[in-house]
Amino acid sequence: MTGYAMETKRNVLELLRQRMPLKSLRLQIFLIVLVMGIVPGYIVGAGIVQNYEDRAVENRIATVQSQLKIVANHLISNDYLANYRSEEQVYRTTREVTNAELEMLSNLYEGRVIIIGSNFKVVKDTYGISEGKIMISEEVIKCFRGENISHYDPEHGYIEMTTPITDTTANAASDGNVKGVMLTSISNSSIVRMMEVLQRRVIIIETLLALVVVTLAIVVSVMMTRPFNRITEAIKDVTAGYTDESISVPDYVETIHIVEAFNQLLRRMRTLDQSRQDFVANVSHELKTPMTSMKVLADALLAQSDAPSELYHEFMEDIVSEIDRENRIITDLLALVKLDKNSKEMKIVSLNINDLVELILKRLRPIARKKDVELVFESMRAVTAEVDEIKMTLVMTNLVENAIKYNKDHGWVKVLLDADHQFFTFQVSDSGIGIPESALEHICERFYRVDKSHSREIGGTGLGLAITKSAVLQHRGTLTVESVEGEGTTFVVKIPLNYIAAEKV
Ligand code: ADP
Repeated sequence: MTGYAMETKRNVLELLRQRMPLKSLRLQIFLIVLVMGIVPGYIVGAGIVQNYEDRAVENRIATVQSQLKIVANHLISNDYLANYRSEEQVYRTTREVTNAELEMLSNLYEGRVIIIGSNFKVVKDTYGISEGKIMISEEVIKCFRGENISHYDPEHGYIEMTTPITDTTANAASDGNVKGVMLTSISNSSIVRMMEVLQRRVIIIETLLALVVVTLAIVVSVMMTRPFNRITEAIKDVTAGYTDESISVPDYVETIHIVEAFNQLLRRMRTLDQSRQDFVANVSHELKTPMTSMKVLADALLAQSDAPSELYHEFMEDIVSEIDRENRIITDLLALVKLDKNSKEMKIVSLNINDLVELILKRLRPIARKKDVELVFESMRAVTAEVDEIKMTLVMTNLVENAIKYNKDHGWVKVLLDADHQFFTFQVSDSGIGIPESALEHICERFYRVDKSHSREIGGTGLGLAITKSAVLQHRGTLTVESVEGEGTTFVVKIPLNYIAAEKV
């Protein structure tokens, strides 16, 4: 790997490690509750503040406008616009009254009022700086057309509005009764002050809300994930060996499913453990029996100080046969263990099965002859199949050997080989002692023998069929047996011709 690629890989791993906490269900629930609780609260808070500001500005404009309208009416009734320069006492007095009214208004709202006459000339400015100047702006023109315009500028902190000075008397000219315009700007400082108070309250409420939501999120996330912790604790107890009881966490459907799956696994482990214990007990027992016999024989010899050599010879022969038996058991056990261990290591080859059967029967014929058992082979067709040669030899040898061993004198053993397009069948029938129906389901169990003493006599270990069954299963085949006690037994092995295809099924 190049240096750059390694660097990238390291970065990716680092990133994954950093993101691991996000895989915590508890953290995810915590974040969801947190976001769902806090975000709406903040949105509502911001909405309330914004809405309050809009309403406050609207109210302020409406109040000021209504007062400006009253002043505008005074201006008309006093003919202020026409006589703002008149020196006549009567006009001067009314003008002063109106001016005072305007000053009061602008003081009250911390603002400025400008009165513009019909020729766009400023008639009155409460700031006193624009009087006599011409003031034309879009708002003013629109206002002359009768429109009330208001505008809020939060950045500079003022509200600006225009109010038409309208002559509503009956004799007003029809070509436009707007005689002037009042251009007013007022400060928004009172609104800002109120907003600040409101904002502070909203922040306090939001902080309290955040605290409540964080507490709630912690409680909910801990409570919701507690059943999973209980499962982990229960599994840990089982793993540590404190208990092998089934566990139960019925809080959620999901935990029920997980726990049920675990309990099934536990049951299977218990069965396996039990069968392992049984196996060890059986092995010990089987290995001990020849040892006990040998010890009894040896003790008997030792007890007789002047035992004749014939007795020695006889006892020694018995001891040798017990050693042979011990040897056979160990060989079979090793074969069985090897078969279990190498279950994944099948040495599959394409093999002529007819040749294989011929070879096996050739090897077994001397034994058959010794027992005066006739051994017949009938092949229906030439069969080639993918098998593990050693294991298949084990299967066939065991079945034919059993058929000879558990036969009667002058009996027969018939081996039949057949195939269809998918499987080949290897069938071994004998005219032997047969197997009782109640024993049929047990004969493939390790160390199971129908008649222990008879089997021992003829050198059986009780492991042959267990080995056979295991090898057949590894070929993904089946082993079936039919028997009539006293008449004979038929074993049928069915093996797929194509091993790989069978594996895919
Ligand atoms: P063993 O080494 O005792 O033969 P197996 O596992 O090969 O062990 O067989 C188990 C038992 O099944 C035998 O002890 C015998 O009682 C019975 N058995 C197997 N094959 C036959 C057969 N062809 N006829 C009658 N009994 C049989």
